[in-house]
Amino acid sequence: MPSLAGRAELRRYSRHLLIPEVGLAGQEKLAAARVLCVGAGGLGSPVLAYLAAAGVGRIGIVDDDTVDITNLQRQILYGTADVGASKARTAAERLQALNPQIALDPIPVRFDAANARELVRLYDVVVDGTDTFGSRYLVNDACVLEGKPDVYGSIFRFDGQVSVFGAPGGPCYRCLYPEPPPEHLVPSCAEGGVLGVLAGIIGTWQAAEALKLILAIGTSLTGRLLLVDALDARVREVRVARDPHCPLCGDAPSIRDVTEAPTAPPAARRVPSVAAADLDALLAAQPAARLIDVRDPHERILGSVPGAIELPAGELEARMHELDTAGTYVVACRVGAKSRWAAERLRDAGFAKLHHLDGGLLAYAALTASFEMF
Ligand SMILES: [Zn+2]
Repeated sequence: MPSLAGRAELRRYSRHLLIPEVGLAGQEKLAAARVLCVGAGGLGSPVLAYLAAAGVGRIGIVDDDTVDITNLQRQILYGTADVGASKARTAAERLQALNPQIALDPIPVRFDAANARELVRLYDVVVDGTDTFGSRYLVNDACVLEGKPDVYGSIFRFDGQVSVFGAPGGPCYRCLYPEPPPEHLVPSCAEGGVLGVLAGIIGTWQAAEALKLILAIGTSLTGRLLLVDALDARVREVRVARDPHCPLCGDAPSIRDVTEAPTAPPAARRVPSVAAADLDALLAAQPAARLIDVRDPHERILGSVPGAIELPAGELEARMHELDTAGTYVVACRVGAKSRWAAERLRDAGFAKLHHLDGGLLAYAALTASFEMF
């Protein structure tokens, strides 16, 4: 049993000790608690900072990513000098400096089906700071199967969501959305953008839920999905009941283990993709080939492609007739999700000589000195 009798501890946590609902007993619960934060990005940064400051005794940080300059607009654990460094390790160093009395486990690996359950099992509460549907289902599934609460958060542009899944009697993420949506229908923050401070609003809310679960105080967000609209400053609440037919937590579950979520359509339906490194060679070998840029006009201020056909994905159906079904096209967008969708629509409409730029124009820009994009 950890002891907080030391003077330094009493001083550090004095503002918690003054709250009757926390007090010395609560602070000792925090010191004995183990929290796993999956993802140390926009949501993970405030979650980790507040959990470390609060004195959560052991914090696991899973993230295989490195710090990128585009992260700094919202991922407040990192500074400019950290660009290129491991997020898990950099976060652990920063948090250890913030609170030397806690234990930190930097886990710089990808959270995947092979390690998800084993990692979740080692902690009491899991905070989902991931940003893809695949990872979100994986966190949810591993938590339900291991009987751990999943403090969920997600952000996009001005809109955020918070809830607690997998708590006893409460619903899970699959009760709300049984299956992941096709990936191309879901723009990511890299593609759609996010207001930086929204990560702080939602992440701190997740931290509060995690602390309440550890302290066993208040009313958790179990069974309630909070919808935060930062643009109009509105918060709505949707009730989510446990679904007895849920494939994961229902009465007759069909999911008994974690799997990697399907992220790509079956091979037969896939438009062949071209790697960013091979794009120049393809265009040189097929001089008649044209690049179709399906990004929205406002995305082009971050880098435009000279000579490309500019055809936003949302106008594809209406303007498809401007293209030649016998022509050779490479469809591209920012990160390669929207373009896959657009390429499939074109193939369905009878276009045969199609390619899809894998990784999008961002990947191409990273390799091409003459083309800059952010
Ligand atoms: Zn469920």
